[in-house]
Amino acid sequence: MQTLRMNSALLPELLEALKEWGRVWAPVERAPDVFSLEVIDDDVRRARPEALRTIVPFKKLLLKPRFTMLSGRTGEAPTDPLDNDAGAQVLFGVHACDVHALKILDLLYLTDYADPYYQRNREQLVVIGYGCWPDEHCFCESMDTSSVDDGFDLFLTPLEGRFLVAVGTSVGDDIVRANPNLFEAATRQDTRDYLRRLREREEAFSLEIDVTDLPYVLELKKDDPVWDELGKKCLCCGSCSMVCPTCSCFNVMDEVGPGGDSSRVRIWDACLYRDYAVVAGGHNFRADRADRVRQRYYHKQEAFVREFGMPSCVGCGRCIENCPTGINVVEVFQYVRGEL
Ligand code: SF4
Ligand code: SF4
Repeated sequence: MQTLRMNSALLPELLEALKEWGRVWAPVERAPDVFSLEVIDDDVRRARPEALRTIVPFKKLLLKPRFTMLSGRTGEAPTDPLDNDAGAQVLFGVHACDVHALKILDLLYLTDYADPYYQRNREQLVVIGYGCWPDEHCFCESMDTSSVDDGFDLFLTPLEGRFLVAVGTSVGDDIVRANPNLFEAATRQDTRDYLRRLREREEAFSLEIDVTDLPYVLELKKDDPVWDELGKKCLCCGSCSMVCPTCSCFNVMDEVGPGGDSSRVRIWDACLYRDYAVVAGGHNFRADRADRVRQRYYHKQEAFVREFGMPSCVGCGRCIENCPTGINVVEVFQYVRGEL
């Protein structure tokens, strides 16, 4: 992997140059300390890549919360209106945990059967990573997702007055070659400062979770009273699923208009919603809140591990920050382990 340096003052110039590769998305401050992911082509200085979390993560760039898969009229063959096709996009300011989340979505949507709606946008996505600093909700260090070696095109780590820039792909290399005025070779001092930053960052994490043998522990704890307690506390509002970068439940519905127009739409869904597991005939496999809460945790930390060899939680802390009743994933697993 090639490693370069870039003066911090040149960041707006890099962002302008990235427009050549697609619409540029970045975290933007909407209100004090509230960040959303927006297109910044009109004013690249709005980018706030150091912001720890946008409320809704990047998954909305790949699969819109609601889109039409097929449309047509009665008696005619339906066609794909390309409603979900976003074209070329550049995602700027992706932190290491979200790069891992993107890799998890790739496993989900591109293994065995490739989801064409996801795949079309994914193939045109340029990923520019950005080194962050943890707060009290981050536990990516425990999930082994606090740093990345691949999955990005460029990755910028801020050092004093400059960035260390890792080039991860040929697209990243193209960006560098097209903008030789922005980059120069990294020095030994840059590497030393980068390694010191890594060490200091490791020590800055205050939240930890022990995931050793967690799938096995969960298998033993299926009937633990903690799930009933959580079922009483959880509103099943689905906020944690909507903000989670790896939650990917969806529903497909057919809608028929009075004039014979019909469409098949796909919308974000959540296994926490009451009707998610209702089947034909009306039976609900997870009618109890406790069952639905348990399902979310088990899917992330047990079923996904069995299928893909890793959990599907990257420790980003979004669900902790956004739960209206204060349910904290780390505390839940500490309790399950008997540590609380
Ligand atoms: S955000 Fe909290 S209350 Fe809402 S579904 Fe998730 S765990 Fe339950
Ligand atoms: S479960 Fe929570 S901490 Fe884990 S990836 Fe999803 S939002 Fe982030």
